[in-house]
Amino acid sequence: MFYLCGMIHVQTFTFNGFQENTYVISLGNTCIIVDPGCSNKQEESELDRYIVSENLKPELLINTHCHIDHVLGNDWVKNKYRIPLLIHEKELPVLQAVKVYAPNYGFPTYTEATPDRFISEGEKIKFGSASLDVIFVPGHAPGHIGLYFKEEKNLFAGDVLFRESIGRTDLPGGDFDTLINSIKNKIFTLPDDTIVFPGHGPATTVSHEKIYNPFCGTGSPDA
Ligand SMILES: [Zn+2]
Ligand SMILES: [Zn+2]
Repeated sequence: MFYLCGMIHVQTFTFNGFQENTYVISLGNTCIIVDPGCSNKQEESELDRYIVSENLKPELLINTHCHIDHVLGNDWVKNKYRIPLLIHEKELPVLQAVKVYAPNYGFPTYTEATPDRFISEGEKIKFGSASLDVIFVPGHAPGHIGLYFKEEKNLFAGDVLFRESIGRTDLPGGDFDTLINSIKNKIFTLPDDTIVFPGHGPATTVSHEKIYNPFCGTGSPDA
């Protein structure tokens, strides 16, 4: 599935047993890879075939947060394309926990990739002629970030907000009230027509979730 939003092109792959959305966001011939969930050779080659066929040059690897389903392909992507891994500092323990529990989830060969740089709210990350804003949206994970393209009105929201659902808050570092506050104060304050690309399931919009989300929506267009 792909979307063309203003200048950037968004390509979605759904990888691993958790049905995780891996995003390749491109502008011209440059791209960034967000939450690579590729967990086997077949998924790796599916991602690489796209990069090669579109003649893309990956520049950055970014994790919205570091649960296993979002980081399974980190090591492969980082080494294959020789690009730096960026995460929020508060996700470091979340990332480091993955290698401990990965064998129990059926990924005995998982290898951790070391982050190259920590990023935090307020930072603007440039790629090509586009720039994205980092927003801090904890609650599902302690150092969860959203990646917001202001001009295109696109938000890569990881597991914070899904179409008519929200991320779970029962994992370590999760907190329900914190998650709802993140959504209401950081996401629902973005323009209504912002497209939200979540870590699982189909894309949605801020306006749709403001009304129809059963956890944080009003239930009515007028409320
Ligand atoms: Zn998650
Ligand atoms: Zn996830």
